[in-house]
Amino acid sequence: MIQTLQAVRGMNDILPDDAETWENFEDIVRDWLKGYGYRPVRMPIVEPTPLFCRAIGEVTDIVEKEMYSFEDALNGEKLTLRPEGTAGCARAAIQHNLMAAGGPQRLYYQGPMFRHERPQKGRYRQFHQIGAEALGFAGPDIDAELILMGARLWGQLGLTDIRLELNSLGSAPERAAHREALITYLERHRDELDEDAQRRLHANPLRILDTKNPAMQELADAAPKLADYLGDESRAHFDALRALLDDAGLTYRINHRLVRGLDYYNCTVFEWMTDRLGGQGTVCAGGRYDGLLEQLGGKPTPAAGFAMGMERLLALWREGGEAEYLAERPVPDVYVVNQGENAQRLAFRAAEALREIGLDVLLHCGGGSFKSQLKKADASGTPYALIIGDDEAASNEIGIKPLRGDGAQRRVPFAALAETVADMLYGGEHEDVGAGQGAQDGSV
Ligand code: ATP
Ligand code: MG
Repeated sequence: MIQTLQAVRGMNDILPDDAETWENFEDIVRDWLKGYGYRPVRMPIVEPTPLFCRAIGEVTDIVEKEMYSFEDALNGEKLTLRPEGTAGCARAAIQHNLMAAGGPQRLYYQGPMFRHERPQKGRYRQFHQIGAEALGFAGPDIDAELILMGARLWGQLGLTDIRLELNSLGSAPERAAHREALITYLERHRDELDEDAQRRLHANPLRILDTKNPAMQELADAAPKLADYLGDESRAHFDALRALLDDAGLTYRINHRLVRGLDYYNCTVFEWMTDRLGGQGTVCAGGRYDGLLEQLGGKPTPAAGFAMGMERLLALWREGGEAEYLAERPVPDVYVVNQGENAQRLAFRAAEALREIGLDVLLHCGGGSFKSQLKKADASGTPYALIIGDDEAASNEIGIKPLRGDGAQRRVPFAALAETVADMLYGGEHEDVGAGQGAQDGSV
């Protein structure tokens, strides 16, 4: 027996019932992004590996152990399946001179990302992000806007129980001063550090504050706080952001240990999180990355953005969101039943004539008796079956059989089909006669 093949672990098929919900979700998200002036950009899924090493940082979970990297078999080029979108988006903006030509850019992307993590609920090896990047904006106003955007989307999706955490990472020199104090502190507690932390102690001590190891929480909580090392400018940026958020009535918690898993961030960082998804509670995360574009070879360009995890948001939406947005299986306007060679040819013409006026038509394919075809038509939920057999084919007519309610079956010439069906579907004689008569009877 031939063994069946399975999808790669941690990479999921999204089947039609779910995929329709995804599409509804994406429609809402696209409208929402448009409402803030964001324009779409689509980058390749594969990028040169050095892009991520340089952008995300060598000593990060992503670059150290989560990337799907390989060599191009033809030329040996080192390539990686993108683990996130910011690096590729920044690369594309630089490569195509977007800011030089068009000034600051509000961009968004969506699509699959790849990280070699341990698969579990809310954490996959192929997952999907929607990301927004504002390139060329220096002030706290855009930070505030990016955060307010999130709040509006949760509202539109009917999601509650999502809270905001906020921190400032300051500037590079401020982080350097804090880093020294942090290393001194961590060295004093060396024997309490886990293996990861030992390794990062000198390479990337800030990352240790991001530890998920329960045994190290107390140690991380008591570590020197970046907030105490911020200079006037960073402090003013953060205060101005907070004032804008306060004005908008947003509540948030300052989390001194919020450092994010990517090295390119400075000043503002934020995460939207929920307790309703177990351990994988962060649904959206972002911040400012003023140094990134220059680090990738572009002109110095202040920038900020965020990325949302679609699987996690969809899980929340399904569970507690507004059910009316969730997809229902689409119902065809008509189902075309046909038997016999000439009938089949007429059926094709009939189906195309109705699609021409914008109707959704399911044309029965694969033959079978009228009885079995009508069963399928009924199961599709359609209000009308078109019936085409030898008789109809001979007279170039189409049978129309209402499947819901008690209307009678009728026959119309092919030329009158589109108009007749449109009338029946959209308040033409058929429905109006019934409803209208009732109303008249009552009022006379
Ligand atoms: P985490 O701390 O959960 O690992 P992260 O800091 O690595 O998250 P980011 O790189 O900031 O995550 O990605 C932004 C968002 O993308 C996350 O908040 C999350 O919603 C989603 N995300 C990240 N990794 C995964 C994954 N492996 N599977 C599903 N969603 C993910
Ligand atoms: Mg991660």
